[in-house]
Amino acid sequence: MKNDVLQQSVTTRKRSTENTKYPWGTSRPYNAYVDYLRQTFGTRLQKVTVDAGFTCPNRDGSKGYGGCIYCNNESFKQTYNTTEMSIPDQIETGISFLSRRYKVDRFIVYFQAYSNTYAPLKRFQVLFEQVLSHPRVAGLAIGTRSDCIDQEKIAYLEQLARDYYITVEYGLESPYDKSLTWINRQHDFQNWVDAVEMTAGRGIHICSHIILGFPSETRKEMLETARIISRYPIDYLKIHHLHIVRKTILAKKYQDNPFHLFDYREYIEFVPQFLQHLRPDIRVQRLVGETHPRLLIGPNWGLRADVIQRDIEYEMKQQGVWQGKLY
Ligand code: SF4
Repeated sequence: MKNDVLQQSVTTRKRSTENTKYPWGTSRPYNAYVDYLRQTFGTRLQKVTVDAGFTCPNRDGSKGYGGCIYCNNESFKQTYNTTEMSIPDQIETGISFLSRRYKVDRFIVYFQAYSNTYAPLKRFQVLFEQVLSHPRVAGLAIGTRSDCIDQEKIAYLEQLARDYYITVEYGLESPYDKSLTWINRQHDFQNWVDAVEMTAGRGIHICSHIILGFPSETRKEMLETARIISRYPIDYLKIHHLHIVRKTILAKKYQDNPFHLFDYREYIEFVPQFLQHLRPDIRVQRLVGETHPRLLIGPNWGLRADVIQRDIEYEMKQQGVWQGKLY
């Protein structure tokens, strides 16, 4: 199986020479965030992640203790994202590494770990302003939960967004309350809707995440997710596939009672179908989840995210579909 996957990926490494231009101005059959950044800022912007030492109401006991069943923040953190390093040191280390690796000059600081507005406003206000004073930082991406925001915090972010590129990321994972219960999310879909509506129209960019592959949903429901979230004023979307990460409640559940996970071919055929139903102006930041291989239980496709992304693009062209075709 793995060899088939690799063979297919090799064949798709050649970029299509097709010249079709889609409404977002590129020949990519979906509205990619990376292209939008280049068009908007005239250069590539790279995210540099920081761990600011926040926690999460689903972990500290105010909503729950165990967290979402798939959650293991170690699975995506960089080695320099440790609270033993100051935020400026994390940024300098990240910038130095990323500018060598990608030859980039401008950065978005990504407050990724846990819930970065789950604190009194004053605490993150100091941090955000310290970070934004860095000459190579163009803006912030702030990962949080929809139940960790209020009018006062939004008013502050609105003020920042007058001068900087500010994105708030509200994880959703699924618009179905049955799935939110299954993953122990400890908020419902309506809570996400309320946060998105409170944030919209204030100059703040809104990103959300969804996960495809929960055993609590049918494929039809997963496709419908694209239509449901398209009704709300989000600017960006990250699509992840459900993967099982070590040291999570989900890992235990899966080991006790295994269920079907997307295999590679299923996933690269399914994502184009999903994107057909997605509002075409939503810029897609991710098409696949990623985790450190040492923490991954499955599915293990043995491929990097950029390779998977190219395979999905190729598949979209093969299927003759593009983002929003059936929206
Ligand atoms: S909201 Fe985020 S940080 Fe909190 S438990 Fe869920 S996935 Fe983990």
